[in-house]
Amino acid sequence: MPATSKTQLIELKTSEKVEIVDITEKVESLVKSSGVREGICVVSVPHATASVILNENEPGLLEDIVREINRLFPQEGTYMHNRIDDNASAHIAASFLGNSRIIPISGGRLIRGTWQSVLFVELDGPRERRTVAVTVMGE
Ligand code: ZN
Repeated sequence: MPATSKTQLIELKTSEKVEIVDITEKVESLVKSSGVREGICVVSVPHATASVILNENEPGLLEDIVREINRLFPQEGTYMHNRIDDNASAHIAASFLGNSRIIPISGGRLIRGTWQSVLFVELDGPRERRTVAVTVMGE
């Protein structure tokens, strides 16, 4: 099979200001249907106030992460951006968490640890429509 690259979009809806949504199965199914056996998968969020991380989907840990995001990037504060908008904390949190992750593909599967799930992080919800771009490259 020749090298290919294909980008597909996952859409999701969020219901909290800060919320974590597990998108592992959706990403894995796109990798599977791509037919790529050896390559890379780029998971990217085209938003300024959302992020993607790889970590354990354990309910207590997800609560801990949300709490720490709120502690480190509090909504209340004297932010310059809030002169024109009301979500500076979300932009700052997204800048620090990052908007993409690269995951190797080998043997047709994502190479990820047992405790590494692909987690979308909403930082300025709730939102009716959020998008995640999944690019699968390889052969
Ligand atoms: Zn803003």
